[in-house]
Amino acid sequence: MPKPTFKQDSFLAALTRQWQAFGLTSAQDMTQHQWWHAVSAAVAEQLPPRPDSGKGSSKVKRHVNYISMEFLVGRLTGNNLINLGWYDQVAKALEQYDINLTNLLEEEVDPALGNGGLGRLAACYLDSMASVGQPAIGYGLNYQYGLFRQSFVEGKQHEAPDDWHRNDYPWFRHNSALAVDVGVGGKIVKGEGGKSYWKPGFNLRGEAWDLPVIGYKNGVTQPLRLWEATHVHPFDLEKFNDGKFLQAEQQGIDAAKLTKVLYPNDNHEEGKRLRLMQQYFQCACSVADILRRHHFLGRNIHELPDYEVIQLNDTHPTIGIPEMLRVLIDEHQMSWNDAWHITSRTFAYTNHTLMPEALETWDERLVRSLLPRHFAIIKQINANFKKLVDQHWPGDEAVWAKLAVHYDKQVRMANLCVVAGFAVNGVAALHSDLVVKDLFPEYHQLWPEKFHNVTNGITPRRWLKQCNPELSALIDETLKTEWVTDLDALKGLEASVKDKKFCKRYRQIKYDNKVRLAEYVKHHVGIELNPEAIFDVQIKRLHEYKRQHLNLLHIIHLYHQIRANPKLDIVPRVFLFGAKAAPGYYLAKNIIYAINQVAEKINNDPLVADRIKVVFIPDYRVSVAEVMIPAADVSEQISTAGKEASGTGNMKLALNGALTVGTLDGANVEIAEQVGDENIFIFGNTVDEVKALVKKGYKPKTWLKKDKGLKAILDELASGFYSNGDKKAFEPLLHSLLDGGDPYLVLADFAEYCEAQDKVDKLYRDRDEWTKRTVLNTARVGMFSSDRSIRDYQQRIWQAKR
Ligand SMILES: *Cc1c(COP(=O)(O)O)cnc(C)c1O
Repeated sequence: MPKPTFKQDSFLAALTRQWQAFGLTSAQDMTQHQWWHAVSAAVAEQLPPRPDSGKGSSKVKRHVNYISMEFLVGRLTGNNLINLGWYDQVAKALEQYDINLTNLLEEEVDPALGNGGLGRLAACYLDSMASVGQPAIGYGLNYQYGLFRQSFVEGKQHEAPDDWHRNDYPWFRHNSALAVDVGVGGKIVKGEGGKSYWKPGFNLRGEAWDLPVIGYKNGVTQPLRLWEATHVHPFDLEKFNDGKFLQAEQQGIDAAKLTKVLYPNDNHEEGKRLRLMQQYFQCACSVADILRRHHFLGRNIHELPDYEVIQLNDTHPTIGIPEMLRVLIDEHQMSWNDAWHITSRTFAYTNHTLMPEALETWDERLVRSLLPRHFAIIKQINANFKKLVDQHWPGDEAVWAKLAVHYDKQVRMANLCVVAGFAVNGVAALHSDLVVKDLFPEYHQLWPEKFHNVTNGITPRRWLKQCNPELSALIDETLKTEWVTDLDALKGLEASVKDKKFCKRYRQIKYDNKVRLAEYVKHHVGIELNPEAIFDVQIKRLHEYKRQHLNLLHIIHLYHQIRANPKLDIVPRVFLFGAKAAPGYYLAKNIIYAINQVAEKINNDPLVADRIKVVFIPDYRVSVAEVMIPAADVSEQISTAGKEASGTGNMKLALNGALTVGTLDGANVEIAEQVGDENIFIFGNTVDEVKALVKKGYKPKTWLKKDKGLKAILDELASGFYSNGDKKAFEPLLHSLLDGGDPYLVLADFAEYCEAQDKVDKLYRDRDEWTKRTVLNTARVGMFSSDRSIRDYQQRIWQAKR
C-alpha cells in the first residue's frame, strides 16, 4: 500500500467544521488548545478508511491480537503526522493562520494508560506491527484516569488524578456496533439433562473505543481497541417505576467504576477484586471480539489457531485462556478436547519478570466468587496436567507443588500460561535464559520447544525521528537512505567517526538538545543548568531493584570529596532523575524524598559552586522522556544483575548518543555486545556473583567496615544533615540498606560504581574521544528497533510451524 496522500483542501474544510462546531465565527477565535483539538480531529477525519482488521491475515501470516492491560502510547498527534508523512504539509497549511505546529503539539495531554516499560513496549510493538505490515489489533482498557500526576511538596511525592479527558479525545472513534456484554459473579446451576451452566450475577457492557495505529508511510491503519465498562441497561426499570430513581441508577454507577483507574503498580501484583474484574472484563470483551471477527470472515471455528494468535503481555490477561475454553465449550457446545486443542494453539505468553512479588497469584475464593465457571475450568486444566506431571515425576509432591496451576488455594497465572499456551518468551537474552534455568526448569524439560527469547525493542519513529529531529536530519543527510524503517542502516555512521565536520555537528546537536532540556527545567523546576556539564540521566519507575539509591550514594560521595578538597577538579555534572513511585510503595517514596533533600542541600551549597547539580523532574512520562533522552550524555542502567528483565530506556538513550553506565543485566548485556566494551561503562556483580554473594549469607555491614567513606555517607543521611535535623527522615531507606539486609546489593556494587563514574569524568575531558564513542553508540544499536523484535516474534512464535 502506498503512503496516503495529504489533501490540503479537504483538511482545511475539516478544520472549518471544527471551529464551527466550537460555535466560533472564525479560526482565529480558537484558543491554542482548541487549535490542537481541531487539527487533530481534522487529520483523524482524513485517515484512509480502516480495513476490517483480520482481513489482511491468512494462514501464512496469522493475525495478532496483542492483549495488554497497559498501552503507554504518549501523545498521538505529532506521531501520527510523522507516520502519515504529513507533518511538513500540515505545518505549512497552518502557517497561514500564524500557528506553529510544533508548539501546538505541546497542548496534548499524554494518554498515560500505562505505568512504565511494559505499557510502553506494547505501544512500540503496535507501531512496529503497523509499520512492518503485520496485521494486528491491540486490546486494552479505556481508563478514565491514567497514571497519577506527580508533584513534589517539600520534597515528597504528591499524587493527583490524571483525568486525560477520554470523552473528548479527538483520536478516538467510538464503535458502538462492537459493544460486548460480559457476565460476572453468580453461580453454576444444573440445567436440563443434568448439564450445568453458569448463571452470572450481573452483566457489564464493554464499549469499544478505537485509536488508530498508523504504519510508517505505508498506508496501514490498525486499531488499538480500548474497552470502557458501562452498564447493560441504564436503569433498572422495576426500581425506576417504583419511584426509586437513584437506586435504579446505582448499578450503572458501579459498572462504570470498573474502567475508572489504572492500577499504579509497576512490577508488583495487587491481589484485589477490582483488578481481577478489570482483567476478566478486558479478556471477555477481547475474546468475544476475536471470535466475532473470525466468524464474520467466514472461517471455521476449528481453524482459529491457523488465523489468529493471542499474545499475552505478561500474565495480566491470563484469564482469557479459561474464557476462551468456556466460550468454546459452553456457547459452541464443543468437547473439552476440541476446545483445548484450539485454545492451546492460540495463546502465547511473554514473561516480564522473575521477581516473586510480581508473579500473579489469585486467591481461589476470589476467583470462585467472581468467576465460578472459570474456576471449574482451571481445576480441570490442573487435574489434566497433574496426570502428565505424575508420569514424569511419579510421587514427587515437591515438583507438583511447584508446577501446579492451582495449589494451596491459589491460582498461579504464570503456570497457567505455560501449561495452556504454545509459546513462552523472555524479553532479553539473559532474561530468557533465567526464565528457563531459574523460573521454569521443569516446564522446559517437558516442553523445550515452547521456550523462546525475543529481545525487546523501541520504535525509531518516536524515539529518534520524532524526539530528536536535528539528529534525524543529520542522519538523513549522511546516509541518504530510509533508516527509519531499517535501523541497521545506522551502521553506515561508523565511517563518520573520522569525519571532523560530522562529529562537530553531532556534538552541536547534543548541545542544542541540552539547551532545550535546560529551558524545560528552568521553566518547570526553576533551576538553572549549565549545558556544558555532563547530563547524567536516570529515568524509569522508582523501584529498589532499579537502584536510584545507588546513584544517590555516589552523588553524596562526590559531595564529600568536594568538602574534603574544595579545589577538587571534576567535570561539572547534572544528575537528572525522573521517576514515579507507586503510591503504596513506602520505601520508593522515601528514596524520592531523600534525592530531593540531598538535591536541595547540594544545589544551594556555595562550596559546590555548580560542580554538581541534582534535579528531580516531576511527573516523568512519555512526553518528558522525549525531551530528556536526546539531551542525555550518560544513561544510568544500574539494576541489580538478574532483576531487570530487559529495560527499554537503556535502548532509547543509547540510540540518542548517551553512554551507558550499567550492570550486566537485561538488555544491557546485548547493548554491550553491540557497541563494544570500550563504548560502555560496565560495572558490578554479575548474575552468578550476586547468587554466590546471597548464598554465602550477604551481610551489608561488612562493606561498611571495608569502606569508611561509604559508612560516612550513610551516617550523614542518618544525622539529620539533609533533613533539617530530622534523624528519622530516611529511616526506611537506611533500614533497607542495613538491618533490612540490603536485598538489592547496593553496598556490594558501590565501590565499582564509583570507579565507573570516575572513568566517565576522565573520558568526558577528551571531547573528541567522547563524541566518537557516542556516535558509535548511535551507529551500533540498530538491532534494538522494535521492527526487529516484531520480525523475531513472527519467525519464532507467530508464524512458526504448528
Ligand atoms: C521507556 C520508558 C520506560 C521504561 O524505562 P526503563 O528504564 O526500561 O525502565 C518507562 N517510562 C516511560 C515513560 C518510558 O518512555
